[in-house]
Amino acid sequence: MSIKENIKQILEIAEKSAKKSGRNLKDIIILGASKTQPIEKIIDAYNAGLRYFGENRVQEGINKIEALKNYKDIHWHLIGGLQTNKAKYAVKYFELIHSLDRKSLADELDKRAKKINKIQDVLIEVNIGKEESKYGVKPEDLNSLVEYTLKKENLNLLGLMCIPPYSENKEDSRPYFARLRDLKEDIEKEFNIQLPHLSMGMSNDFDIAIEEGATIVRIGTRLFGERNY
Ligand SMILES: *Cc1c(COP(=O)(O)O)cnc(C)c1O
Repeated sequence: MSIKENIKQILEIAEKSAKKSGRNLKDIIILGASKTQPIEKIIDAYNAGLRYFGENRVQEGINKIEALKNYKDIHWHLIGGLQTNKAKYAVKYFELIHSLDRKSLADELDKRAKKINKIQDVLIEVNIGKEESKYGVKPEDLNSLVEYTLKKENLNLLGLMCIPPYSENKEDSRPYFARLRDLKEDIEKEFNIQLPHLSMGMSNDFDIAIEEGATIVRIGTRLFGERNY
């Protein structure tokens, strides 16, 4: 299957799931998770209409952003875990960072954004399955990180992100997605704010994620094909 056909299929599935959750496809961002994929495939996806791409590593992302800088309407997101010493570059290059998960990183992102006069949009990544190996703030520490982030002048909190524990069965992801949505709603009440985004769902479970309220789904292999590691 070509990337164009993959995207068409993804959009059809996404539209059905959006309807199930009482929403429109246009309210959902299909983000191409383009890590390890070559520039040519990103251009193919662009030509098929995709405008949002997410990279995992700052340096790899920057190389692609530079190579594609004439494609001015691409939205570049950082979706992978972020080391504090790369915050400077992340702020310079990425529109939305999905992986804020600790106060020290909020400090650094805010400081670097201030230096270049940018208000940096961020999502807080939640370790929703409480897995040892995963990035993300623990659910019990989330409120404290939200409060901390909201005080930062140069950070703009737009929502939450999660990667549920891996499972062959996509229905296993559903309770985790529902839990992230509940956490978002709790935060909106407690802090009297609106959080427009829930970034959740990947190749194998994005339809379930949309049913549970995802506004951004991050799709890699199903869109681009297998990755070249
Ligand atoms: C790789 C990756 C994805 C996409 O994974 P697929 O299973 O290939 O769709 C989504 N989100 C993050 C954070 C990733 O690292």
